[in-house]
Amino acid sequence: MTHRPVLLAPTAAVGADLDAWLQNGGAEGLRHALAAPERIIPALARAGLRGMGGAGFPTHRKWSSVAGQSAGDKYVLCNGNEDEPGTFKDRHLLSASPHQVIEGALIAAVAVDANHVLLYVNPHQHEALKSTRAAIEQWRASGLLAPIERRLGLRLALDVVESSGRYIGGEETAVIATIEGGFPFPRRKPPYPAESGVHGRPTLINNVETLANVTHILRHGADWYRALGIGEACGTKLYSLSGDVLEPGLFELPMGTSLRELVFTHGGGMLGPLAFKAVFTGGPSNTLLTADDLDVALDFDSVAQRGSRLGTGAMIVISAGTSIVRKVAEYVDFFAAGSCGQCTPCKTGTYQLSRLLRRIDTGVGVQADLRALESLCALLPGSGRCGLVDGAVTVVRSSMQQFREEYERQLID
Ligand code: NAD
Repeated sequence: MTHRPVLLAPTAAVGADLDAWLQNGGAEGLRHALAAPERIIPALARAGLRGMGGAGFPTHRKWSSVAGQSAGDKYVLCNGNEDEPGTFKDRHLLSASPHQVIEGALIAAVAVDANHVLLYVNPHQHEALKSTRAAIEQWRASGLLAPIERRLGLRLALDVVESSGRYIGGEETAVIATIEGGFPFPRRKPPYPAESGVHGRPTLINNVETLANVTHILRHGADWYRALGIGEACGTKLYSLSGDVLEPGLFELPMGTSLRELVFTHGGGMLGPLAFKAVFTGGPSNTLLTADDLDVALDFDSVAQRGSRLGTGAMIVISAGTSIVRKVAEYVDFFAAGSCGQCTPCKTGTYQLSRLLRRIDTGVGVQADLRALESLCALLPGSGRCGLVDGAVTVVRSSMQQFREEYERQLID
C-alpha cells in the first residue's frame, strides 16, 4: 500500500527553521484555530485523534475537560520525556520538525484558554532539546503569539522545561511534580491533571506525536485525517520498529497497518534465517504478540481485542533464536531500576521479579522460583501509585503463559 507521510513528510522536516515551516503551510492550522476556537475540539472528535503517549485516550475528551474548568491560570504540557525501551518517535519529531509540535501545543492553548505552554523535553536527547529551544525562540520573536494573547487577554508563557531524564519522569503526574520543582514522584489519579495539575490548576498533558497531529488536523480537516487510517482506525501512526529485523527504523504508516506488513514489508523481514517469534509492544510492558497475531491491525482497538496494547507503537521483534526469559529479565531490570521507590510493593516487587528471572535465566532457577514469580504476578497489580509495577507484571505474566516451556526448560529441578 502506498501512502504519504504527514508527520515525517519532507515539508515538515525543516528543523528549527520557522521561515521554512511557514513557507510550507506552517501556522495555517493555528490561523484556522484562532478563526473559530469553538470548532477545534469538535474537529478532534470527528478526526478520531487518540493519545499517542501509549494510552490511546480520546484527545477531545481530555481537551473538553480542561476547557470546561474555571478561568484563570491553565497549562498545556507537551510530554517529550520518552524513555521507554524501543520507543524513539518523539525525539525524532522534536529534533527534525519541532514546529509542527509547537503549533499543536499553541492550538491546544487556544482551545482550552491556557496561558502557559511548556515543552517538557528529556535532556539526554540533546538534539531534541537543542532544536526545541531554537524553535521556541523563533516563535517568540515571530509575532505569531500576539493573536493568541489578544484572545486570552493575558501574556502567553511559551517555554522549554528539562525533565529529570528518568523513565518515571514521563508519567504525567511526575511531569507535574517536576514542573513544580519537586522529585518526579507520581501520585494517584484521580484527580486527573485536567482538573488539578500544575499548582492545582487545570493542565492539559499530551504526548509530542499527539500534538503534532493536531496541527495537521486543523490545517487539512478532520475528514482528511480520519481517512488516512485503515478501516475504523484514524490517521497515521509512528511505529518504532526494532529488534531482529533487517531494516529497523521509524515508520509512519496508516493507523491499522498489520504487524505482518510492518515487519515483513517495511522492516525487510527477519534477520538471517531465523523465524519470527514474538513482539514486545509498548514499551515492553504489555502482553506479547506472537506469530498467531501477525495479521492483527496495529491500532488501539484491534490490539486491545487481542488482549494486548498498542502503547506508543513501539514494536521490538524477537526471533526464534532469542531467549524470552532473558529478554523479559532485561526489561524487568529496566523497570526495577526506574521505580521511584515511594511505593514499597513496586520497589521491592520489581526487584524480586528481576532477581527470580535472573536466577532462571542463568540456570540456577528451581520450581519454587517459578511459583514465586506467579505469586508476585497475582499480588502486585494495582499496588503502585502509577502503572510501572503493573507493566512489569504484565510482561512477566504474559511471557510465562505464552512461553511456559522456555521457563520450565531452564529449571534445574
Ligand atoms: P491513563 O489511562 O491513566 O490516562 C491516559 C490519559 O488520559 C492521561 O492523560 C489521563 O490524565 C487522561 N484521562 C484518563 N481519564 C480521564 C478523565 N476521566 N478525565 C480527564 N482525563 C483523563 O494512562 P497513563 O498512565 O497516563 O499512561 C499509560 C500509558 O503510558 C501506557 O500505555 C504506557 O505504554 C505509556 N508510557 C509511555 C511512555 C513513553 O515513553 N511515551 C513511558 C511510560 C509509559
